[in-house]
Amino acid sequence: MSGMNELLSYQEADVRFDKLEAALRASQNSKRLAKVRQFLEEQKGVLQKMTASVEGRRQAIQATSDRFDLYEKRYQETMEKYQTANKEDLETVAKYSRYFDQLAARIASERREFAQFVNVLEKEERQLADMRIKIAKARKEYDELKVKVEEERAAAKEELEAAKAEADRLAAAVPANLLEEYRRVKRNHTMPVAEVQGSKCSGCNMELPAVSMRKLKEQELVECDNCGRLLYLPQ
Ligand SMILES: [Zn+2]
Repeated sequence: MSGMNELLSYQEADVRFDKLEAALRASQNSKRLAKVRQFLEEQKGVLQKMTASVEGRRQAIQATSDRFDLYEKRYQETMEKYQTANKEDLETVAKYSRYFDQLAARIASERREFAQFVNVLEKEERQLADMRIKIAKARKEYDELKVKVEEERAAAKEELEAAKAEADRLAAAVPANLLEEYRRVKRNHTMPVAEVQGSKCSGCNMELPAVSMRKLKEQELVECDNCGRLLYLPQ
């Protein structure tokens, strides 16, 4: 197959470039950076929910406190009326007494609710503060990692560029139609060209039909029927 040797040289350089790029993406710092970024993204939503919950709790506490004030005011007003009421009238005294009991029970209930809410609010505020500290720490780590990853990229840039230039130089020597085929197969396979070993495709290990073997010997471009890789016969 004419151009096959050039294509193989190109493939070697192309794969080398891919590996350099992949190594860069797979560096510890890059991986950690991606994790921290994900954590920060998630925390954004959690923080919003938590802040809304605390705000709601504060409003509930305010409402409880308002009701509490109202009942206490009523209690005092009723107490003033009671002081001028005729205490000889037992029915009136009993009525006041029932009313005071009711109000006292309500006030006690509001007070309990208030204490409960304050308790929960304090807990939520502590959680919120902890979360803010964690987020601030993650942000700091993110910024530091970003600098490191950028340094790694800068250090690798020269090597990457050299590998790219070499691959481009070798690609230029490959016949255009062959290069096109290579790039098409590359979408599915990191190594688009596979050697024929015996009568098997070394890419997928499938036995090639006689017709493919004959075409290969006649220097035709043959794809593996099974995996689609471009095949070549070693010389
Ligand atoms: Zn195959």
